[in-house]
Amino acid sequence: MSFSAIGLSAYLLEAITAQGYTKPYPIQEQAIPPILAGKDVLGIAQTGSGKTASFALPILERLSKQQGKRSRSVSALVLVPTRELAMQVGEVFKALGAHLPRKVKTLAVYGGVSINPQMMALSGTEILVATPGRLLDLISSKAVRLSEVEVLVLDEADKMLNLGFKEEMDQIFALLPQVRQNVLFSATLAGDVAAIKEKLLLNPVTIEV
Ligand code: AMP
Repeated sequence: MSFSAIGLSAYLLEAITAQGYTKPYPIQEQAIPPILAGKDVLGIAQTGSGKTASFALPILERLSKQQGKRSRSVSALVLVPTRELAMQVGEVFKALGAHLPRKVKTLAVYGGVSINPQMMALSGTEILVATPGRLLDLISSKAVRLSEVEVLVLDEADKMLNLGFKEEMDQIFALLPQVRQNVLFSATLAGDVAAIKEKLLLNPVTIEV
């Protein structure tokens, strides 16, 4: 299978080529079509599997076809466990979105750095990649709202739970609209991940690589 056969626009194919990706990894081949179709997806995948592009590409495809927003409401929320992963995932969205005809702004926010520059940068952000604690701080400061989130991604959900973010995650889930698409990536379904899966995912397509 090729990236073009998966149903991504020429603008994304251009960015994919620029990244040096010649053919989709198995996770991408299996996860991109259902995510593009708006389905909930559960991906059991490790770091290095190519999971980031498997959710970044369909999210960019979807949002690039919509009108941009100027409000404080983000359209896609990607929750990640660590600052390093937030930066890394943010860069993947930026690189893969670089050739879109309409700029879809991605911002990565995380703790351990001052919050003010992040508050300023949030304006016009459509895809927010965030660690749970900093996201809640930004919500408390009214710098961002989750009431219009269309797609939620939990990346490395097992690690997020292992780091003790369960309470923060529940607080965040309570602020999301009822109707939305959910994508959950985890290396395992052990422990609290299974409960999160039951709580969040509706008839998910399950992929294991
Ligand atoms: P990830 O698991 O998302 O962290 O991706 C692991 C690495 O694989 C990253 O360095 C990506 O740039 C690279 N990568 C992702 N998809 C592809 C692909 N289809 N072809 C070649 N490299 C890829």
